[in-house]
Amino acid sequence: MLIAYRSVPMVRLFRFLKPYLGYVSITVALLLIQAVSELSLPSIMADIVDRGVRGGVDGVIFLSGAKMAAMTVIGVIASVGVGFAASRTSAGFTRDLRQSLFERVQSFSLAEFDSLSTASLLTRTTNDVTHLQHIVSMFLRMLLFAPVMGFGSLVMAIRTSYSMSWILALAVFLVSLMVVVMVVVAMPRFKLIQGLVDRLNLIGREHLDGIMVIRAYGAESFEMNRFDEANSELTAVNLFVNRMMSALHPSLTLVMNGCSLLIVWIGSKHVAASSLEVGQMMAYLQYAMHVIMSFLMISMMFIMIPRAAVSAKRISEVLAVDPSITDPEKPEALEASAGSVEFRGVSFKYEGAEDDALCDVSFSMSPGETVALVGPTGAGKSTLANLIPRFYDASGGSVLVGGKDVRALSLAELRSRIGFCHQKAALFSGSIADNIRYGNQNADEAGIEAAASTAQALDFISELEGGFESRVAEGGSNLSGGQRQRIAIARALARNPDLYVFDDSFSALDGRTDARLRAALKKRTKSASVLVVSQKIETVKHADRIIVLDDGRIAGSGTHEELLLLCPLYKQLAESQNAAEVRS
Ligand code: ADP
Repeated sequence: MLIAYRSVPMVRLFRFLKPYLGYVSITVALLLIQAVSELSLPSIMADIVDRGVRGGVDGVIFLSGAKMAAMTVIGVIASVGVGFAASRTSAGFTRDLRQSLFERVQSFSLAEFDSLSTASLLTRTTNDVTHLQHIVSMFLRMLLFAPVMGFGSLVMAIRTSYSMSWILALAVFLVSLMVVVMVVVAMPRFKLIQGLVDRLNLIGREHLDGIMVIRAYGAESFEMNRFDEANSELTAVNLFVNRMMSALHPSLTLVMNGCSLLIVWIGSKHVAASSLEVGQMMAYLQYAMHVIMSFLMISMMFIMIPRAAVSAKRISEVLAVDPSITDPEKPEALEASAGSVEFRGVSFKYEGAEDDALCDVSFSMSPGETVALVGPTGAGKSTLANLIPRFYDASGGSVLVGGKDVRALSLAELRSRIGFCHQKAALFSGSIADNIRYGNQNADEAGIEAAASTAQALDFISELEGGFESRVAEGGSNLSGGQRQRIAIARALARNPDLYVFDDSFSALDGRTDARLRAALKKRTKSASVLVVSQKIETVKHADRIIVLDDGRIAGSGTHEELLLLCPLYKQLAESQNAAEVRS
């Protein structure tokens, strides 16, 4: 099962900007207006000083002052508009990107989840996307503004005083030096940060998921140290990067102030020699600052690009994963009742594993039949169950449902015919009824109640204050393991499928409830086929047929009595569990 990664360059993510091209054009137009307005201010000011104040020409101060005010107002309006349009674009861009990521992850098969960790997927969908949002917003504001401002200011400065150009060249050289140091020293660390955030998330998640185990084993300090280590490492890298950034500001101020000083010093000599007006010197000063700031902005963008590229690559990696399990081009249709299952010489190997988890497994079951799958842990029972709804695809042989190869059916149709119940009953926040209805959105109250009744959940639900409307906490944490399993079973029953797969989903039930549940199930699932996966002989012994799985191979098949006689492994399992029962 090969996961195909296409190398998607960062530019390809720009396709998400397409719906916002209108806003992007508005941003560009407003930025140009803002740049022109800002570029015009120093020369108007020079005019006021040279002709109005020093020359004493009538009305210049008032007229040019009004022009300056108008230009400023235009500039401010344009800049507010830029902020609005850029935010709209970047927020929309990230919303669409997040949505696409979610959809893509939703289409992943278990093999893809095995290769991309959940923690990393979460960081990619949140942290990396937010990072890109900032970058898009910043780029929109600066990408055009900085070069226009920089070039415009340079031309204006040279036009004002050609002889002082060397001061500008010196300032630009010093700023470049600072940027180069920054790139060489800080850049590798930028790349580290995202990976470290991933690790911190992973540890945080494991900690929250396993909090009870951690407490039970008194492993708080071990976990604390593990978190502390990852946290400290991230903090150290962040601090380093922030220190570099903080050092940049004073250094820049130093260069700018030094440059101003030089301009005033050299400029005043020119003024004394009457080759420059005072106002022109002041304008030159402002243009010089614009040149330095624009140059810095452009350099910062170049620094940001590799950082953005890291996030973009991590996002692209998720978007570029071709789900290995997809609908066929022309799906075949299933019959109205499609409960039969057949495994024909099925083998399966997990990606990266050395041995097959299943090897040449063949069996079939028909509607109305209850088949149980039993075997020691790691025998391949869950793996086998997961092949039926195509959570994974068989590496060899074929799995048939309703007489059709599962790979020839649409995933939605195939899965709509199956009531799959996992051992770890995942519940969602909402009411108990919502959770049962998850199996069948059209189920009415009576249907939900009947499903709960068969699942032996009615007793405990009616004891709850809110009954079916009682709230289920996130992950079902306010219910016991057995209660969660029974709700999950009710959820599968509410669907009224052709085929049930109970993957060790009776494991948390006590013997009496287990027996009552099996009896009720038998009545309700008369026309459906039922596959019960379990390690407990007690759970499987009444099945129509029992298949014993050992190390990925079928070690025996028959009824309880037949297997006791013919299958040594089954006999051994039965005896060890009997002995355990007698002991307890
Ligand atoms: P059972 O349900 O009988 O306890 P499983 O089907 O869960 O056994 O596992 C069968 C074998 O496959 C085991 O050796 C297990 O380590 C391996 N296995 C299970 N899940 C994965 C996985 N996601 N990736 C790699 N190996 C796995």
